[in-house]
Amino acid sequence: MNDRLVLHGIGVSAGTASGPVAVVTPAVGIDEFEPASVDADADGRRVRDALDQVAASLRERAGHANSETSKAVLEATAALATDRGLIKGVDKELKKGTGVTKAIHDAVEVYATKLRGLGGYMAERVTDLYDIRDRATARVRNLPEPGVPDLTEPVVLVAHDLAPAETATLDPEMVRGIVTEAGGATSHTAILAAQLGIPAAVQVKGIAEALASAENVELAIDGGVGEVIVAPTASDVAELKERSRRRAAALAGSSGEGATRDGHKVKLLANIGTADDAAKAATYDLEGSGLFRTEFLFLDRDAAPSIEEQTATYTSVLESFGTRRVVVRTLDAGADKPLSFADLGPEENPALGRRGLRLSQAREDLIDAQLIALAQASAAAPAADLWVMAPMVSTVEETTWFADKARAHGLKRVGVMVETPAAAIRAKQLLSLVDFASIGTNDLSQYTMAADRMEGELAHLLSPWQPAVLSMVRATCRGGEATGKPVGVCGEAGGDPLMALVLVGLGVTSLSMAPGKVNAVRAALRLHDLDTCRQMANYAEDAQTATDARNAVLNMADPVLRDLL
Ligand code: PEP
Ligand code: MG
Repeated sequence: MNDRLVLHGIGVSAGTASGPVAVVTPAVGIDEFEPASVDADADGRRVRDALDQVAASLRERAGHANSETSKAVLEATAALATDRGLIKGVDKELKKGTGVTKAIHDAVEVYATKLRGLGGYMAERVTDLYDIRDRATARVRNLPEPGVPDLTEPVVLVAHDLAPAETATLDPEMVRGIVTEAGGATSHTAILAAQLGIPAAVQVKGIAEALASAENVELAIDGGVGEVIVAPTASDVAELKERSRRRAAALAGSSGEGATRDGHKVKLLANIGTADDAAKAATYDLEGSGLFRTEFLFLDRDAAPSIEEQTATYTSVLESFGTRRVVVRTLDAGADKPLSFADLGPEENPALGRRGLRLSQAREDLIDAQLIALAQASAAAPAADLWVMAPMVSTVEETTWFADKARAHGLKRVGVMVETPAAAIRAKQLLSLVDFASIGTNDLSQYTMAADRMEGELAHLLSPWQPAVLSMVRATCRGGEATGKPVGVCGEAGGDPLMALVLVGLGVTSLSMAPGKVNAVRAALRLHDLDTCRQMANYAEDAQTATDARNAVLNMADPVLRDLL
């Protein structure tokens, strides 16, 4: 008999599920008995073959991927498997006489240290790199590649961490839930799970230990609140089913324009990264796009896309949304999203370095080409409601530089993102120069709290419930009110139904989020009037801690709101 145990992690994909456990095959590791390498050339060829096979199998899976995002993740991992730097590193280890599997591990470690040193997006690729290492090691040992077992019945999948390459190809019909012991709330895995609609919880400490002593155990998961029950009782499963039913009931009838109960309008918009995302998001009941992350068109390429290619993509995005609003963010590269063709040299602290608009100022050719393409797209889709904004703005000079440039290209609606405390507390001055602002709460939290957003261990500091972050949002909204300009939110905070109420109470006029989150946010707004949202905002901002802020707001909320979380 297995003991019932309740564990708590971070919920990253809402929904409930239960079922038998399938554990992801762990990596085999270094062969302890392997001989030293005496023929580095021959051993190098073996490793190359293994890496080529890994790349080929990842590419094949990319061909079957069920979304553009999954495909892109798999292709990026495949490209890393045949990276010349990695292979050279393995050759170097073999020449020292290191055995084959140890050479793979040592070379990967050297490479991983380099990536971690670069920080941000590159540091995140370390998970992909370890995935490649483990697959190649299994291949040279003639053992099955680690990963998800072949599934014959629907399961709840448990892993220490799940590589994006694994998550991308999961079949939602067979994988009812995902539980990982490690992993961050903004990792590729979490984003992909949410996109696949599979309930998921990360950072569920103790799950491996709980399963080690259990046999044929079942798991139940609530991916909204991050709760995982090992060996759930029949009443646990019934309670989760009841939660699902209540959620569906709370969402029923959520349609139309975003507004509070008393009719205060709040535009509900989609975050998108590609023309495919736009086409998909446009089929949802939402009012446009509040953030088109254009850098996805530039990443993983050797050269910038041509003006023609950009024009075609932007036109397609605008056409997808018809007359609905589309807020395009100009290139936000650097730091976690480096561009090989716009490398400004190594930086000690890339997140504080020449990223976002700062990179555009150093590489004016890139932003000029982008603005030309946007103006052409706007002319090609005359019905479109195109807004254009710059990322990582801190000063009046930067704002003027961007606004002048965008307007000189004929773009009508020009704005800035508020992602730095400097922009937040000087919002009035910045907004007097442009038409709108959009708060990037992901970066605004990182820079307000001086906590790297990629660092899973600092999740408590990065919470948008931190009163200091809420004060920054308040300051921005005051700037909006003083100048009569709209202030939106396009960071992850906008997609949290409870936080959405606070943001509206602080004065935010639009919320942009993953399209799948719009229904819950719309339902939450409909349950509350503007006055309540304002009181919630006051309580949250006055709270001593992030936890107190959230609890205070949850206690003030309509009880049905709990069903939406
Ligand atoms: C943000 O920082 O909140 C934001 C929306 O931009 P990104 O997540 O792309 O940095
Ligand atoms: Mg940002």
